[in-house]
Amino acid sequence: MKPAETPAPGAALLAALTESRTFVAEHMAFGLSFSGRWSEETVTDLLCQKAAPALQPILFTRNQEALVGADWLWWFIERDSGICFGLLCQAKNLKKKGKDWYIGFEQENKTYGPQMANFLAAAEHFQVPAAYLLYCGTPAYRTGLGCTQHAPPDCVRCERSAVSVLSALAADYLVSRRPEGAAAAAFQSALPLEDLADPDLPQELFDINLDICGPELREFLLDPQYRAPLVAKKIFEQLSRLRLSVFSRASIAMKSHRDTMVFPQLPDDSGHFSAPYFRHVLRGLRREIPDYVREALEGNAVPLDVSERVAGIVVVHV
Ligand SMILES: [Zn+2]
Repeated sequence: MKPAETPAPGAALLAALTESRTFVAEHMAFGLSFSGRWSEETVTDLLCQKAAPALQPILFTRNQEALVGADWLWWFIERDSGICFGLLCQAKNLKKKGKDWYIGFEQENKTYGPQMANFLAAAEHFQVPAAYLLYCGTPAYRTGLGCTQHAPPDCVRCERSAVSVLSALAADYLVSRRPEGAAAAAFQSALPLEDLADPDLPQELFDINLDICGPELREFLLDPQYRAPLVAKKIFEQLSRLRLSVFSRASIAMKSHRDTMVFPQLPDDSGHFSAPYFRHVLRGLRREIPDYVREALEGNAVPLDVSERVAGIVVVHV
């Protein structure tokens, strides 16, 4: 008898995220037909509900005094190895006004600068990257807005893009480069959420700083990754590709960072981003979960510096 095929590492998470995306896409379609809109909070709730137990949200008791936004800390955790990846996520709807698209982080929005600065400062506090979770509605809603691999009439990637992820450093760069049309560029640079868990998508990554990376970091960039390191690689890939589009490179030093990071030695290149992009993303990839995540998982209160900055933690079992 033929032995049963072993599922690829992370296959359960990929299936859960795909099913969950299909579910929230239906919810957004209903909202569009009913009232022309949908609520970010409801989509986040439904996304977590449908992907349970792969996604496990832990809501903090809200500090009424604090200015808590809709930010959640996502921690992708490999329970067996302890390897994990943290990502500070802010949900944003892709909105249409006339022929134009908006996400709410455009420069003409007067609150853009302070909002982005706060978002990146919170990511700095937690030593993780920041990313937008984009709720993009249905392909019909997005008519005229194609993905990078667009194949009409029923583009599979556009279908998957109902829930997408975009690095905040990438969003910040896209807005600074061309404020008008930033939402369309953001949608194109964003990655379907479920693709973070799909090891079968192309992974080879020729970063502009590849030649100065140490052997382990080169292996990470060039070889297939799975589970938590794959999620980190997919977020990094968005910045690496944008970085490649501007060829200039000064001599870049390697810089040392704290030792719970999987890659403590990283190129210190900011390129045209507002921070060194290797460090911004890969500081989130750790050998063990931070103490506040352990406390939250055990049902204990988390320190105030955590609960006053985010609504809660989404533990993603990968
Ligand atoms: Zn497409």
